[in-house]
Amino acid sequence: MEKIEHLGIAVKDLKAANKVYESLFGYTHYKTETVESEGVSTSFFKCGDNKIELLEATREDSPIAKFIEKKGEGIHHVAFAVNDIYAEIKRLKNEGFRILNEEPKKGADNKLVAFIHPKSTNGVLIELCQEINNEK
Ligand code: ZN
Repeated sequence: MEKIEHLGIAVKDLKAANKVYESLFGYTHYKTETVESEGVSTSFFKCGDNKIELLEATREDSPIAKFIEKKGEGIHHVAFAVNDIYAEIKRLKNEGFRILNEEPKKGADNKLVAFIHPKSTNGVLIELCQEINNEK
């Protein structure tokens, strides 16, 4: 497992949250992206080497909508960069972690992602993410 790649923050209103974080950082987000399969709209802010991902639900059955309903807005997940997501999933499964995706899926920001159930990790949803290699 490498560094923390980003923190994901669940928000009710992405536009309003963008303004808050723009004021906080003193600069605006560098990208927005909707991942329809996950039912989320996201925006990304850079903060030094780290990133903050704001997530808004695009539909009622989105995991973000459910999260906000249960817990309110706030930190939703911590994402760690990995070099080989397939090997990490295998390793963590062997360690007894509950992996939510047997197969990594395409997430926002050109990443392959997989999640670990918060029940296995003291209440924190953990995302593994690997940069998708665009070389052919
Ligand atoms: Zn994320």
